[in-house]
Amino acid sequence: MTGRFAPSPSGRLHVGNLRTALLAWLFARSAGGRFLLRIEDLDRARSKPEHEAQQIADLKAIGLDWDGEVVRQSERTGLYRQALARLENEGRVYPCWCTRAEIRAAAEAPHGPLPEGFYPGTCRDLTDAERAERERSGRPAALRLDAQAEEIAFHDLLHGETGGVVDDFVLWRGDDTPAYQLAVVVDDADQGVDQVVRGDDLIDSTPRQILLARLLGLPQPAYAHVPLVLGPDGQRLAKRHGAVTLADLAPEEALEWMAASLNLTLPVLENLAPERLPREPTTWLT
Ligand code: GLU
Repeated sequence: MTGRFAPSPSGRLHVGNLRTALLAWLFARSAGGRFLLRIEDLDRARSKPEHEAQQIADLKAIGLDWDGEVVRQSERTGLYRQALARLENEGRVYPCWCTRAEIRAAAEAPHGPLPEGFYPGTCRDLTDAERAERERSGRPAALRLDAQAEEIAFHDLLHGETGGVVDDFVLWRGDDTPAYQLAVVVDDADQGVDQVVRGDDLIDSTPRQILLARLLGLPQPAYAHVPLVLGPDGQRLAKRHGAVTLADLAPEEALEWMAASLNLTLPVLENLAPERLPREPTTWLT
């Protein structure tokens, strides 16, 4: 069994991120499995080496360890290109010139409101002339998967049976960087990850990732989407909520709160069972 934690180095980890990391580590280590750390630094504007270094230091400070070298997505573009080429060869990729505003407007058009964030397929159905015109515009195109509105069902260790329809999501961004969805699927398979434990804000991405894995002939990992930590105002925990990172909390203090919020008593290894874990978000009260 191999699990992983895959933070984006765009700031300091807060007690919610640390709790997700702790859970991913516990799931893996309590089953005697391997645990990997992957830095998801594809967003060039927001990713900073100093954030990466701080995140690694904070994970170590709460006692987590991992196997092998830390892997950085920014160093693996070749692998993502190969996966993209395979999908292109199968005719499942098309260029898209839509701006965010155009997608929002199209989603509200007469064919009915799509689920939030869904791409309505505008550029999939362009005529040759329309496509040529957009190419001439010089606006860089993103590349989308022709998902054919496939419906994906899966079993989540915490949420049970769930799933959804897959839209034509972005595989490669207009700024010539691989998109998260593609990179994460390629990496999990390449690194032998067979158990993905992550925040439940990502559960809507999972049908996309399962479809991609199938199209690429890659194995599908098991999934556990764990509840987020909220601030006292009910919003997702963030820096503005005060003492939420190890800049202000002793690692023992953070660990104690995390364990208590998960109904775990230390030592936790014997106690970790998905059916005992809370399903609801927890509120961080400082
Ligand atoms: N890098 C993503 C994040 O920090 C997590 C991706 C994942 O766990 O699949 O939100």
